[in-house]
Amino acid sequence: MSSSDNSNLYRAIIMDHYQNSRNKGLVENPRGYMTVRLKNPSCGDDLTVQLKVEGTMVKEVHQLGAGCSICCASASMMAESLEGQTLEEALRRIDNFNKMVQGEAYDEDLVGEAVSLEGVSHLPQRVKCATLAWQASKRGLEKIEDERARGLADHEANEGSIEDDVSPED
Ligand code: ZN
Repeated sequence: MSSSDNSNLYRAIIMDHYQNSRNKGLVENPRGYMTVRLKNPSCGDDLTVQLKVEGTMVKEVHQLGAGCSICCASASMMAESLEGQTLEEALRRIDNFNKMVQGEAYDEDLVGEAVSLEGVSHLPQRVKCATLAWQASKRGLEKIEDERARGLADHEANEGSIEDDVSPED
């Protein structure tokens, strides 16, 4: 495929996720969920992710955001990519996605449709738009791991909330 075919395909995938956002909407009762709200002040993106982790599995990933098309499409791709994975695999996919948009070597097999956002690596001012949702899930999953490591029972460790802005230096 020529690169212009690729970019048309990638644009179509991004538009599909933007218009038919996967796992969009938050659960009414956040008990048992890790809720993470991250804002990206440089663009105005404001995204909330809810994660339900049971044992080693990421059972549910919900997302709801207001923001640019890259941020919203990426949140949809993130939810689709991480739901149903093990914690370990989810964190691996997040790191791999971050490498891709930062222009580093990455494993294409782990990226799925999010490969359509590869071009963001050439748009430094949009990197945070693309990584916001993945960053939110990473913060949530790492908080669960940290609290388990501190000895909290799963039902305590798996529930909580984080709210933060990503700074321009992150
Ligand atoms: Zn944005």
